[in-house]
Amino acid sequence: MAHVIAVGNRKGGVGKTSYVLNLAHALQLVGCRVLVGDLDPQRNLTDVLVGSDKEFDLTLFDAIYNEQAGTLAQVVSTTDFHGIDLLPGDEQLARIEAENLMAPEQRLRNAADGAGLAEEYDVILLDMPPALGRLTLNGLIYANETRVVADAEAFSVKGVVKYLELVDRVRGSSMYNRALGDPKIVINRYASTAEHSYQREALINAYGDAVIEPAIPRTTAIADGQSARVPLSRISSRGAVKAGEAYSNHAASIKKELNHR
Ligand code: ADP
Ligand code: MG
Repeated sequence: MAHVIAVGNRKGGVGKTSYVLNLAHALQLVGCRVLVGDLDPQRNLTDVLVGSDKEFDLTLFDAIYNEQAGTLAQVVSTTDFHGIDLLPGDEQLARIEAENLMAPEQRLRNAADGAGLAEEYDVILLDMPPALGRLTLNGLIYANETRVVADAEAFSVKGVVKYLELVDRVRGSSMYNRALGDPKIVINRYASTAEHSYQREALINAYGDAVIEPAIPRTTAIADGQSARVPLSRISSRGAVKAGEAYSNHAASIKKELNHR
């Protein structure tokens, strides 16, 4: 059974898409079969994986909007980004937030029912939009685990609190997802400055083990990899190597958990 991890934060620009992309690659390097899903109408993840010109007959929008059992499997597209498989997103996803729909939050889970993806992949990573609306709820209701990505800066910590409140609501209701595991916090763009170490300590004091170690270091290699559409492992700068090590740590602990299930 695939382990489904939904990656969110109501704030944009914190590194959600970068986390999904680089963790997917790191998981592949340790032998996991990985699928990524782009729930953000801005489709940044889709653009990095296949280029911004590529159009799809079916996207996650169709699977969520039409919700027929099995559609999700038809949405899967292969990519030339190290062979990471993708559930592409597009700007139509914004309609899910806006239109009058029956059970609007449950639709991704319904679309996944019977789609067979759980058998084909070890890990499914969902990149969510910078908002705590219906698309994020769709991700949280389909997932077994969620991670919130945040900078180690004061204003970011508030966003983490808001995100965790939503996760609590989802886990507290059988209408939503009681099976969602304890949420985890990823500190991204970490630079070991006094401010960063102070905020990191504060997060650890407040949330303990929920804060995943190590933090993902700040490096221009992340943006370079995305604009050149190459994975971190193909970049040889010191920053790329350090960030790659952090990601491979995160991947190794996921793999270890999968082996224990
Ligand atoms: P989000 O998906 O939350 O909007 P992105 O993943 O698009 O955020 O990241 C926002 C910007 O920050 C991008 O330009 C990305 O390259 C950059 N970025 C992400 N992670 C890091 C990092 N660890 N170090 C430096 N820059 C990063
Ligand atoms: Mg993004």
